[in-house]
Amino acid sequence: MADAIKGEICPVCFEKKLVLMEEEMDIPFFGKTFLFSMKCDGCGFHKSDIEAEEMKDPCRLTFTIEKEADMNVRVVKSSEATIKVSQLKMSVTPGPASEGYISNIEGILTRFEKVIEGERDASEEDDVKTTAKNLLKKIRKVKWGEMPLKIVIEDPSGNSAIISERTIVEKLKAEKKTKKK
Ligand SMILES: [Zn+2]
Repeated sequence: MADAIKGEICPVCFEKKLVLMEEEMDIPFFGKTFLFSMKCDGCGFHKSDIEAEEMKDPCRLTFTIEKEADMNVRVVKSSEATIKVSQLKMSVTPGPASEGYISNIEGILTRFEKVIEGERDASEEDDVKTTAKNLLKKIRKVKWGEMPLKIVIEDPSGNSAIISERTIVEKLKAEKKTKKK
């Protein structure tokens, strides 16, 4: 079930070519979830986010990829979530360009691959290229289930999930800002 509103003003190019979409999904073990997205037919601007209907607590999710079948494990990631993969020295942090999406473990790994490929292709330096090559090799092994990999998602909004019985869910305390004297 998706609702679309067309002809909205795009915040980037200011043309009336923005399409707003709202989709409602029922995700097992997570609940009713709304997927919002906007896409401009003029300049290609795109943004999306997700929100669970139910109020969620800030959470930290830890999942270790162990086998090829884990590629199909569903992942819900909100724009406020941080993804940490310390074994690959990679992280995705929230920011203005951060997107919320519903994907699976394979999709998350593919996004990492694209980032690494982008860095590799943009660099002239040999050591950057070597590092990228090694990281891509590791990710391929993880995809084939030949190398375990731990993924951590922290979300202060709680609107993230890794749908597996092997996911370790911890409640995060709401962030307190401490003043230094
Ligand atoms: Zn636009």
